[in-house]
Amino acid sequence: MEECYMCKSLSTSKEHVPPKCLFPEGKEFGEDFRKNLITVPSCDQHNSAKSSDDEFLMISLAGIIGNNSIGFRHKFSKVNRAIRRNSKILLEEVFVGEKKIFAIECRNNSFIDCIWGTPNYERLSRCFDRIVRGIYLHHFGEKFFGETRVVLGYLSIKEPSARNFYHFIRDKSEIELRDKQNHGNNPDVFYYQISDRDQFGISLVRFCFYGGINIYASLKPDGTQLPMNLAVELMNKGIKTIFYLGDKKYEIN
Ligand SMILES: [Zn+2]
Repeated sequence: MEECYMCKSLSTSKEHVPPKCLFPEGKEFGEDFRKNLITVPSCDQHNSAKSSDDEFLMISLAGIIGNNSIGFRHKFSKVNRAIRRNSKILLEEVFVGEKKIFAIECRNNSFIDCIWGTPNYERLSRCFDRIVRGIYLHHFGEKFFGETRVVLGYLSIKEPSARNFYHFIRDKSEIELRDKQNHGNNPDVFYYQISDRDQFGISLVRFCFYGGINIYASLKPDGTQLPMNLAVELMNKGIKTIFYLGDKKYEIN
């Protein structure tokens, strides 16, 4: 038996990375969106289907504005069925605190339910951390030992400084990954890109869901010594710091 992708326990099942329920079933759309899904060995504790993290992610991602039509069609079939079945609990898990549910009319008498609120960032980050580690194992054939930092590229951030920093990470990732191959056999639902390790051993990953939702993550292996970076130090101390990327400017603090 193999070791779990997340811990040292022996695997008891296969974990899909990302979870299988994000990929629409062929019978719903007449096209196969589940070609060669990626799996890694998993223990029970780190299997998203067993912790219901898979359904949590599906509801968090499938209805986001900016998705391609597959994301939306998936939202209006399987996702809405899951919400109807278990609405209150699921929405409580996906959004923390206040939320508003409203309907937008898109054509005559045709409405979309929209939900506005603060997503459960902590749980989303935990889910994506696992997906990053699963994809790493799949891609390189070895487990990743180190720290990941996940940036959810689809959220809109109100606070200007945080927003600028976030745009900086996003744009930097886009530049580093520009020439990298897209991996994944169902690219309309999911693909990933991964950069080479830089001089410090750090690599970047981008996930793209439903053609429009981007998640970025950096992977810093254990034992990596980062050089003191003055800009980051200043930024962390709350001092006004400006980053440049090409001709773009990012003002923090
Ligand atoms: Zn495990």
